[in-house]
This record gives sequence, C-alpha cells and structure tokens, in this order.
Amino acid sequence: MSDEIPLAPEILVTRLGDYLVESGLLSEANLKQALEQQAILRKQGRHQLLGQMLVEMGFIDRATLDRAVTEQILRLRSALEESNRSLELRVQERTAELQAAMQKLEEMNQLKSNFVANISHELRTPLTHIRGYLELLLAGDLGPISPDQARGLGVMLRSADRLGRLIDDLILFSLSERGEIQIFPHALNLRILCQLAIDRSFPKANEKNLALHFNAPEKLPNVLADEERISWVILHLLDNAIKFTEPGGQITLELIDQGNKVEVSISDTGIGIPPEQQPLVFEPFRQLDGSSTRKQGGTGLGLALAQSIIKAHQSTLSLVSQPNQGSRFFFHLKAIEE
Ligand code: ADP
Repeated sequence: MSDEIPLAPEILVTRLGDYLVESGLLSEANLKQALEQQAILRKQGRHQLLGQMLVEMGFIDRATLDRAVTEQILRLRSALEESNRSLELRVQERTAELQAAMQKLEEMNQLKSNFVANISHELRTPLTHIRGYLELLLAGDLGPISPDQARGLGVMLRSADRLGRLIDDLILFSLSERGEIQIFPHALNLRILCQLAIDRSFPKANEKNLALHFNAPEKLPNVLADEERISWVILHLLDNAIKFTEPGGQITLELIDQGNKVEVSISDTGIGIPPEQQPLVFEPFRQLDGSSTRKQGGTGLGLALAQSIIKAHQSTLSLVSQPNQGSRFFFHLKAIEE
C-alpha cells in the first residue's frame, strides 16, 4: 500500500461496491466492513482501492473482481459511444437549422435588394416628369411667370435634383448589394476631374466659411478609372468633409504621383472619427451617433457606396482620423504608362 492513489483499471469504475452487491457477488455486510477498513487506512494517509481491499480481506477473488471491473468499463465505453453519437446528431441538427436560417436571411436580403432596386426605378419615372415640367415652367414655355414664381420653381427644381440623387444612390446601393456595380474604366485626367469637383463644392464650402484647397503636381499621369463613378466618390468625400468641419476649417483635395499609381486624398480639419468607429462608417446606413451627424442628415449610404466603387477599381478607400483633429480619406488609382 502506498500514499498515492494506486493506478488500476478499477479507478475508472464509479460505485464498484454497489455494483458488486447488486450483482450478488458481495454481501452488504462485507461491503460495509471493507469501506470502514478503507476509511481507517485513509485517515492514516494510505489509499487503498475498494476492489483491492475486498480481495485482501478475502470477500471476493481476484478473477471475479477483474471480470466485474471489465464489465463496468465496457458499459462505460458503450455509454460514451452512445453519447458521442447523440452529440454528433445534435450538432448535425443544429448545423442544418443554422444553414436554413442563413439561407432564409440571404433570401430576405435578396428580396430587400430587389425591392430597393424596383422602388427606386419606380420613383425615378414620376420624378423625371416633375423635373421636365418644372424646367418648362421656369423657361416660360408654358406662359409667363413672375420673379417670385421663378424663385419658387427654382427651389422645387433643386429639391427634385436632390431627390434624384438620393434615388440614384439607392439604385447604386442595390447594385452593389448584388455585387453588380459595373465600371467602365478609361484613361482619365484626374487634375481636370478634381478641378471640376472643387468648382462644384466651392459654393458649399464658401457658405460655411471653409477654405478649400486643391494640390496637384503640374504633370500627372492619366489613370485608368470610371470617370462618372470616381467623380461621384470625390464629390461625396468633399461633401462629407464640408458637412463635418466647423466654420473656419480647412479642406484639401490632393493628388500625389506615386509612380505606377496616383493617390487621391481628401482631408479636413473637422470633428474626426474615433478609432473604434472608423470601420463602422463604411457599413451601409451607418451614421455615427452624435448631434452633429444627425444635424447633417444624409442616408448613411455614401461611404459604403464609395467603398464599393473603389473596390471595383481594385483599390481600397482608407481612412485616418483623430477626433477633434480631422479626417483623411484616400485611395489609389492605377496610372497609365505614357
Ligand atoms: P452620409 O451620407 O449620411 O454622410 P456616409 O456613409 O457618407 O453617410 O458617412 C457615414 C458617417 O460617417 C457619417 O454620418 C459621419 O458620422 C461619418 N463621417 C463621414 N465622413 C466624415 C468626415 N469627413 N468627418 C467626420 N465624420 C465623417
């Protein structure tokens, strides 16, 4: 007998004594006696297994004990196998349930994209009529109008234009959801495109007392890109920079020649974006909490769409930003060798 618990197959079997009694291999009185003896030894710091104890006390012979232990171990093994089988079955069931739920979600997502695409197209048709008649009225083609009426029609036309842009964004979004954003890249002079974007953004920046800078080297290679889409991205990034910068701030659009590519960078000295929220701004419909964001309106689709467009150009729209310091959004376009 040693101080340590002896290593023998019987340590795998729980309630060996009860099993022996139930099987008629041992009397209850003998079990009690052996357990008492075991307890006495334990108090002395010596550990003796029950089976061994029973053999030593002559209550059972070694062969019977071994047979009983083996039987119990075999039972244990088949119980383990059984529980493995049922566990596997449950895992399979759960996996199937999850797959079905995923499929349902995908279907619903698809339905949502189709719905957005359909409704956007449906909205476009009446809007085209509204714009058309507003333009006719403004041009005086349907009769003379007073200056006040002209001003009112002008406001309506600008609102219709804005509505049109929102609808276009929604259509673009539903296309990007289905991975169907198409681009038509060709040789593009970024200097000219950016100058146009600056000219278009200038009135808004001016209204907010923001300085708008444009830095680009005189000589810049053309890039391979979709003119309409890239122009949309740059205008949107400028719009955001204007929206999220307090009066007196600076906004800079910069083109940097990097040899085989050109970097397009839009930076501001605005409210910035906290690090933990930076990945979120590229998610659709995401607008960061805070009064300034809500005050600014928007759909929360812009950056998600911009990212899809830039990804379609095999590039990535990146962001570096520090709260209260400003933000810089940038991406690269492939230069065309002359
Ligand atoms: P929205 O069209 O509503 O502006 P975006 O997808 O363009 O949506 O932007 C998502 C959110 O990212 C904005 O609501 C704003 O919280 C944040 N954001 C975008 N650009 C800037 C910026 N230049 N400075 C600070 N926050 C910005």
